[in-house]
Amino acid sequence: MPYLPMPPPLPYVESEGFWEGCKRRELVIQRCKDCGTYRHPPIPMCPACQSWNWEGTKVSGRGRVEGFTIVTRAVFPGMPAPYNVVRVELEEQDGLLILGNVIGCHPDEISIDMPVKVTFEDVTPEITMYYFEKAA
Ligand code: ZN
Repeated sequence: MPYLPMPPPLPYVESEGFWEGCKRRELVIQRCKDCGTYRHPPIPMCPACQSWNWEGTKVSGRGRVEGFTIVTRAVFPGMPAPYNVVRVELEEQDGLLILGNVIGCHPDEISIDMPVKVTFEDVTPEITMYYFEKAA
């Protein structure tokens, strides 16, 4: 069951495009306009070429589980355990990592290199959250 992470996301200048993309059900990742390198989470300057020019770019939302943990004790109200936290490497670029949760599968089913794809849920009127689900 999808849930709103606590505390909820607080968009900042560089991440506004990311959250606006979620509302459109698109995964939008920051990309350098000078060298083309993707980066996440959003930051002002490109770590590859030090350029300050960037744009939000829609990506496929497909990737593989690069790492994960299963949280077995509830830490925050509204987030009942067990739940998982995964680090997904997106297919667009080696090392392009994004944290998230896999929904729709039992914790025992999650494994390293498991293919996943992004999915979205409206969790409040203001926030559409991204999640991952098992991909074929
Ligand atoms: Zn760059």
